[in-house]
Order: sequence, then C-alpha cells, then structure tokens
Amino acid sequence: MELYSLTIHEAQAKLRQGEISSVELTESVLARIGAIEDKVRAYISLQPDLALQMARSADERRANGEDKPLLGIPIGIKDAIITQGVTTTAGSKMLENFVPPFDATAVTKLRQAGAVFIGKTNTDEFTMGSSTEHSAFHPTSNPWDLRCVPGGSSGGSAAAVAADEALATLGTDTGGSIRQPASFCGVVGLKPTYGRVSRYGLIAHGSSLDQIGPLTKDVEDAAILLGQLAGQDPRDATTLPAPVPNYVAEMKEGTDLKGVKVGVPQEYFIEGLDANVEKAIRAAINQLADLGAEIVEISLPHTRYGIPVYYLVATAEVSANLSRYDGVRYGLRADGGDMWNTFRQSREAGLGAEVKRRIMLGTYALSAGYYDAYYLKAQQVRALLRQDFEQAFEQVQVIVCPTTPTVAFEMGSKMNDPLKMYLEDIFTVTLNLAGVCGLSLPCGLVNGMPVGLQIVGPALGESAILQVAYQYEQSTAWHAQKPPHP
Ligand code: GLN
Repeated sequence: MELYSLTIHEAQAKLRQGEISSVELTESVLARIGAIEDKVRAYISLQPDLALQMARSADERRANGEDKPLLGIPIGIKDAIITQGVTTTAGSKMLENFVPPFDATAVTKLRQAGAVFIGKTNTDEFTMGSSTEHSAFHPTSNPWDLRCVPGGSSGGSAAAVAADEALATLGTDTGGSIRQPASFCGVVGLKPTYGRVSRYGLIAHGSSLDQIGPLTKDVEDAAILLGQLAGQDPRDATTLPAPVPNYVAEMKEGTDLKGVKVGVPQEYFIEGLDANVEKAIRAAINQLADLGAEIVEISLPHTRYGIPVYYLVATAEVSANLSRYDGVRYGLRADGGDMWNTFRQSREAGLGAEVKRRIMLGTYALSAGYYDAYYLKAQQVRALLRQDFEQAFEQVQVIVCPTTPTVAFEMGSKMNDPLKMYLEDIFTVTLNLAGVCGLSLPCGLVNGMPVGLQIVGPALGESAILQVAYQYEQSTAWHAQKPPHP
C-alpha cells in the first residue's frame, strides 16, 4: 500500500509508532501529485518546498515528544481560504496576485495541530458554481471519469482527496459546495452548523450561509478534522460559544443504531431525481434500518422554495461582499483614468460571467422598489424553511436524503444554462438557509460514478450525523471504492 492512500487516522497511527515520518508521507503525496495532477488539475497552486519544510518541522516536533492530532498530515486547502504568505485567488483573476498578510482562523488551527500544507485547491470563482468550471484558471476533472466535472465549488478539494493528492482537504459550503463535490467524487464532505467553524479569513460569498468544513476519505477523518476546526472565535462574532466535544469518541459510541430515529423527507424524492440514484439511496436507508434505526416518513413542506430563496439571499449578499473588488481597495486594477472608469474596467477585467450575473441579480433584489418583493420575501420564506427543520427534529434525530439528484455530469453540459446548474443544489441549499449541519458519504455507484447519501442534523448535531455515518460506513464497503487510476 502506498503512503499517499492512507487516511489521517491510519497515517497518524504509523507516525506515532515511528513506522513512517511526515517527510516520507509528504514525499509520497507529492510524488502522487507529480504522477497524475496534469490529468486531474485539482490544485490552483502547489507549495512542495513549504510542504517539505512543514513536514520536517512536524517530525522534529514529534521527536521532541509532541503528539497533536494532525501532526505531519498533508492537507490541501481550498483557494478561497486565506493563507499567510501563500497566494490566495478564490479562483478569480481579481485576486490572481493576492498574497494574504495573515491566516484564516481555520488555517491557524490546522497549523497549531501540526498539519502540512500541500497546496491551494481549485474552486469556482468566488465559490460560485457547482462544477468548478467557473474557475478563472482551469477546470478540474473528476478522478472517476476525467470527462466529468468533480462538482463544485470545492471541486478541487474533492478531486484531490479522491485521487489521493492529499490525505484530506478543507472546503467551503454556501449552498452545497462541500457536500455536492464530495458526492460526485466518492468522498466524505461535512458542512458544519452555521457558526460552528470560524469564517474569519474565508473570502466571503454569502456571509449568512458560508461555512468551512472537511473533505476526507472516511467518516473518522471528518470527525478528527472537525474537532480541530470547531470552536468560538473572537474574530468571528457569528461563531457559537458551545464547547467542542470529542467528535471521534462520540462518533464511536454504541455499536448499532437502535433507538435512533431517522427521518426520510418525502419532498426530496421528486421528479428530476435519477432513478438509479434513488435506488442507491433507498438501499442505504434499508441498511440503516438493518442497523436498528427506526425509519420515519417526514415532511419538509417548504423545500421547493429552497432554490429561489437561496439565489435571492446568496446573490444579495454577493452584491454587498464583492463591492470591495473595485480596483482600489483590493485586487486587480485596470486604470481607467477617472474613478468610475477604473471601477468599471477593473471589474470587467477581473470578474467572470457567473460572478457578474450574481452581482447584478443581487443588486436588483436589494434595490429600492424591489427589496420588499424579493429580498424581504426571501427572508420570510427562509424563516419557514428553518421552521421545517426545527419541527422535523422534534420527531427524529437525523434526516437522510440524496446529496444530489444525479451523479457527476459531463464537462460543458450545463455551462450555458445557469438554471440547470443552480438546480444541482436542490437538496443542499436548504441546510445552509436553515443553518443546520449535513454530511455526504459514498453509498453506491451508478454507471461507475459515485452516489452520495446526505445525513442532516440539527444545529450542533454534528455528533449525531457522524455517529449514523460511521455505523453505515462500518457496515458497507462503498468508502473503500477507489476511482480507476486517472
Ligand atoms: N452551487 C452553489 C452556488 O453556486 C453553492 C456554492 C457554494 O456552496 N459555495 O451558489
């Protein structure tokens, strides 16, 4: 077995026993990248020298008796999360040369935990998209079939994990951008509860929706990473003051799912859901029942408003968050003579079509005369969506449903139809709107492409979803399936 194919917990055991060094592990991952990255293109930038330097320092720290959960573990970071001294682009020409002067809190935490940083993974521009084709630099391929997209916007992060080009990665999720690519690439992706992980240093998309979270090879690794990322941060006033549990220990409590009520929302099994994907999801639900779970039919009645509400709320926040990219304060500057022309030409040169579309949509929804009809209405329906989940979680501990309506699609097939692309998020955006947590894990293959099961928990219900996911994973072999060599 090659070192690059290890999980975090497997690698950690070998590092602890002195069987391997972090330098060996990191070299193995870098060699893997060297062999296949020109086909997958999961990364926007790679920092091999920095990685080896961090690996050497991790080995020294271990030799001095330190034993941190991620000490010496090679990890990739989505290029929407800022890293001190390492170019961070958010997939945009606008930030092509932006070298952040400080770290995101999530990055600081990984550093403290001893992680080794391999590179910055590809993303749709400013994390807007579901295929990573909106990256201003290049698309990423799905390691299961190079003609297909890896999902998005954390497509680089998902593809890197699936192709063993990192032991794990960080992604970000505003409306599904961790879970949907995890589903498409056959890996585990966890979107934490809103406020569970600090957004400080995450380049903002929709500030009331964004969360950073892990993409990993299995559920245990997701629990390990979440434990390091979570917690209140004085630099992000929306982080929750709740204590951080030992997710790994809580996840492993119990040996079956007896007494666990699992809700299946009827609104998530609708027209447009691929019949074979549905079959895989139904089989997974039966598996949960075999493990002792009680399956309960539930209703989330406002689900069908999820997409329209999301694309009003998110774009409204986009129009505010991206106003700073004007050629004066941040990023690319195209000198247009006077101020307005400089603004105009900087944005023209720096921003891609999807980002411009959303700025316009959001500006429109917030403009005088339309605010009440669109933005305010969307906020009201958002409250109803939140209520749906609150009521459901009075009856059940977790909810299961598909992560996506189909498996990964071919590159180019949705690029000219934004609405089709937006419908990718139909099963994921509601969680962000409600602020609850969710995880996608592999539960089958359709035509050789991975299917993801989404497990949803209430606010701060991460342990519950990890527990169900862990029991499911222990009793099936889907997570062990690997893409045919790219
Ligand atoms: N695909 C969704 C969008 O384009 C979600 C993106 C995300 O979660 N960052 O908005």
